Amino acid sequence: MDGKLVAGEVKKQVAVHVQQLEKHGTVPFLVTIQVGDDAASASYLKAKHKAADEVGIRSESHHLPADTSQDKLEALLGQLNTNPKVNGILVQLPLPPGFNEERVIERIIPYKDVDGLHPINAGKLAAGHEELVPGTPKGVIKLLNYYKVPVAGSRAVIINRSNLVGRPLANLLLNRDATVTVCHSKTPNLSGMTRTADILVSAVGKEVFQIRAEHVKPNSTVVDVGLTRVDGKLRGDVDFEKVNRVAGYITPVPGGVGPMTIACLLENTILASSIQIGLKV
Ligand code: NAP
Repeated sequence: MDGKLVAGEVKKQVAVHVQQLEKHGTVPFLVTIQVGDDAASASYLKAKHKAADEVGIRSESHHLPADTSQDKLEALLGQLNTNPKVNGILVQLPLPPGFNEERVIERIIPYKDVDGLHPINAGKLAAGHEELVPGTPKGVIKLLNYYKVPVAGSRAVIINRSNLVGRPLANLLLNRDATVTVCHSKTPNLSGMTRTADILVSAVGKEVFQIRAEHVKPNSTVVDVGLTRVDGKLRGDVDFEKVNRVAGYITPVPGGVGPMTIACLLENTILASSIQIGLKV
């Protein structure tokens, strides 16, 4: 499954929506915040701003030093919340040690929460109402849709239970009538689980962890969300070459879920802008 290709399609649609919003007098505006100098965070943000530019979304970044206080960060969020020109707010995670991330996320007004992490947005999703949903799981669903992978009635296994990936993805798949199992580091007999999966999503991101051909059901769909660097090279959780021979569909790393995450962030910015001006999308 080619994430670059599908992300390109999503971005084309986003660009059309940007023009529609402009006709209603709104130029969608995304503001990102980075605290500290984590190199990976900086490169993710660079890619997000570049993609925003490509589709006509205005964007601005705030780069704060690592020793910024929690209060100062929350005060900035307060200003962005009340600024009517700002449609989307994204705080790049993880924050440096010492920050209370939960409180930061809760400080973002839910209808500008383009990462979909605010408890209100997570709660809506858990209740079956999809509005601002985190970009990565949303991107996984779009890939499955694009390649017409049957989800209803399938057995999905997710290895990850984070608020960013596993939990929202479990809800999205459940909303589409999959039977979902969520696995994590304490799951016994993990390979016994993965071998039953029609759709297997792995999001671990550890050098020692690998999904190999014997862990995968023949003809199943394998989505690799995990990211890790080995000898300076980016790789996913899945042994792509070998699993590719067994699976029906598989995502590469890079070029799979990563571009989808960014495209869905842009889509969320459009959705947030539309919610704010009362426009249906
Ligand atoms: P996280 O919060 O650290 O989650 C990792 C998950 O993996 C946890 O649920 C953890 O279980 C589980 N895990 C760890 N070791 C395991 C093992 N040996 N067996 C089974 N499960 C194990 O990280 P995250 O933020 O969700 O991100 C996960 C990965 O996805 C990272 O590599 C991240 O870089 C990548 N990611 C990629 C994209 C993209 O766009 N491509 C976007 C987001 C994230 P416990 O809960 O028990 O600790």
